[in-house]
Amino acid sequence: MPETDGSQMEKKIRDTAKLLKEADYVVAFTGAGMSAESGIPTFRGSDGLWGKYDPELLTIGSFMAKPLEGWQLVKDLFFDVISAARPNPGHYALAELEHMHRLHCIITQNIDYLHQDAGNRVVCEFHGTIKSIICPKCSRLYPSASVALSQLPPHCADCQTVLKPNFVFFDEAIPVDARENARAATLKADVMLVIGTSGAVPPACYLPDIARENGAMIIEINPEPTQYTKRITDIYLNGNAGDILPKLVAEVKSLIETL
Ligand code: NAD
Repeated sequence: MPETDGSQMEKKIRDTAKLLKEADYVVAFTGAGMSAESGIPTFRGSDGLWGKYDPELLTIGSFMAKPLEGWQLVKDLFFDVISAARPNPGHYALAELEHMHRLHCIITQNIDYLHQDAGNRVVCEFHGTIKSIICPKCSRLYPSASVALSQLPPHCADCQTVLKPNFVFFDEAIPVDARENARAATLKADVMLVIGTSGAVPPACYLPDIARENGAMIIEINPEPTQYTKRITDIYLNGNAGDILPKLVAEVKSLIETL
């Protein structure tokens, strides 16, 4: 990287750290790119899964119509990959920021539980979680670890209905609690960190717009510009979450310690 780019990035990190130090309520809005450095592929962006799979396969209609094919796909794409993944330095940096009281809520589109594994406690899982599996008929919840995925599709022990991962498929409604909690946190935010999301999946993608309209500063961390970058982003930190977040948190720490 040319020196001017490096020093511009350092200045942007310093400016962002000052905002985080002064803010009353900081929200991080994260997407698949947050976990890319943990080895979990994103949907879009270079190396995204949509280069290899048809997104139609992850609609709720397709899953309900063909549960065996649907389960084979989500097992390969999510259950097998995510169960082997660990938090990366970006996740740990966000956990440290929460412990420093400089991050008040994470709204994540991810289902991988890596924010909680890293140590964050206030996490709104907008699209549900891989940690449980639900019966769509009787609503019985199963911890994922208790459901054998060696024989697909799995069935409810009570009513024999085919089980569904407890995450949201395309065209499926967002759980009311997640929607309301995310909106409440968004409306409180005076700074929103938008990390590793292309902003292409509604209704989650509207949250940064709502925060901005409500007066929040938008800080974006992503190696590729997105639909937000020119339109609403105040500071664009161009790079990987696992590189930038630890530097940002170190800068916040040094500002607090020099008080
Ligand atoms: P997306 O796949 O549409 O976009 C990923 C974004 O991450 C891109 O803008 C890409 O440039 C960026 N990116 C790639 N590597 C990065 C890195 N190291 N650091 C920072 N940014 C990086 O992701 P999305 O916007 O979250 O939408 C996809 C949907 O799929 C979401 O609903 C999400 O829940 C789901 N999903 C989740 C997981 C997961 O749980 N880990 C994985 C894949 C998809």
